[in-house]
Amino acid sequence: MTKPENESNRLMTLFSLSALTSIAMILVVTFVGIRSIYTQNVIEIAEQQSISISQAVFIQERELLTHGNSSTAGSLRIIPSDFGRIDQRMHDYLQPFNIVKIKVFDGHRSIIYSTDPSVIGKADTANVRLDAALRGDVDAQFRTKDKIVDLAEEERLNIDVVETYVPVRNRAGEIIGSVEIYMDVTRYRDRLNQILGASMSVIGPVLLIAFAMVYLVMRRGTRRLSQYEERLHALATTDVLTGIANRRFLMNRADEEFSRVQCERQGKALPESAGCILVDLDHFKRINDTHGHQVGDAVLKEVAERFEHCVRRYDTVGRYGGEEFLIVTPDSSFDDVREIAERVWNEVRSRPFVIEGIRIDITVSVGFACIEEGDVSVSDVIKRADDSLYKAKASGRDKIIWLPAGQAA
Ligand code: GH3
Ligand code: MG
Ligand code: MG
Repeated sequence: MTKPENESNRLMTLFSLSALTSIAMILVVTFVGIRSIYTQNVIEIAEQQSISISQAVFIQERELLTHGNSSTAGSLRIIPSDFGRIDQRMHDYLQPFNIVKIKVFDGHRSIIYSTDPSVIGKADTANVRLDAALRGDVDAQFRTKDKIVDLAEEERLNIDVVETYVPVRNRAGEIIGSVEIYMDVTRYRDRLNQILGASMSVIGPVLLIAFAMVYLVMRRGTRRLSQYEERLHALATTDVLTGIANRRFLMNRADEEFSRVQCERQGKALPESAGCILVDLDHFKRINDTHGHQVGDAVLKEVAERFEHCVRRYDTVGRYGGEEFLIVTPDSSFDDVREIAERVWNEVRSRPFVIEGIRIDITVSVGFACIEEGDVSVSDVIKRADDSLYKAKASGRDKIIWLPAGQAA
């Protein structure tokens, strides 16, 4: 049977583990949640700015970007001689807005202008985001780039950008191309780290304090519970008057020993290796009648104490019934059991009991038995001890009797 104390420790360990795991999970989920909400906000801000910037650029540079074609059906086109002028104006206009790169696509997905000249003239035919922009949708995505060359031709490392595709429309509202804007949002990173640090340093301790409070309450509860369980266990296994094992506990112990011996033997004919001793006080009724029930109780208590002191550490002494005691002796040969039986018998008769100043001489009758070949259950062994005890009583009391298996009644 698991000890209540162990059970409550196990419960507390389990609670601590699951609470700490929950705290870790809450922190991770909060961390990821804050980061994704913040990033989404940054994307939205960058997207709005990109839309405004691309509209402003297009209004301002319409002449150059449509090659003076101001008809409603105008398409995006730059003539090479205008390229230097438009590049200069783009750089001047875009630099203050944290834009690191811009690409202008015509309706056929060709890059007609970029602040990165190496890509001008190339067509981006397999780009679903560009396709979406050419259908009229704005598409913005957050990316962390290892390296990027900005408008000032400076190489920038590990920067966060929001790439936004914005559709470009002519005066009639028809989509004639798209602008892709790379906006540097690295400046938001420090702010995000500050927010994350502040959130974690508040939520973490709050959760830990909450956990500690619940832990303390639970600890108190489980301690009380295990005390109750211990008391319940004691009530269920001990005899109230004498404080030694009760009949139920004794029978379980005897049963355990019987099973152990049977298991060890496994068909081999070995000497007895466990026994039981039944002890009954002689003429106990007379003690009650002469000195009163209370004195009788005190005698029973003292008998229990004397027995406990004279058996081995691993023997179990218990109250079998009224003034009858049973001693289970594990790991013992016939001689061992007989020796314990003699000690028990002698322990009572050798010294008088002195209760409330009254001297009382008491004797006991003892019957004992060991596990023998052919015993089917522990009841067979106890029955032999009981028959022996009966014989001890019948033959004049104050005796120790042992009956071999064949001679039992
Ligand atoms: P025997 O030698 O044949 O055993 O005689 P006995 O008088 O001991 O046996 P009997 O069975 O006639 O009486 C047992 C007595 O034990 C009867 C009962 O009042 C007494 N008894 C049983 N339990 C208790 C108890 O808890 N306290 C007290 N004081 N007496 C008890
Ligand atoms: Mg008796
Ligand atoms: Mg009796």
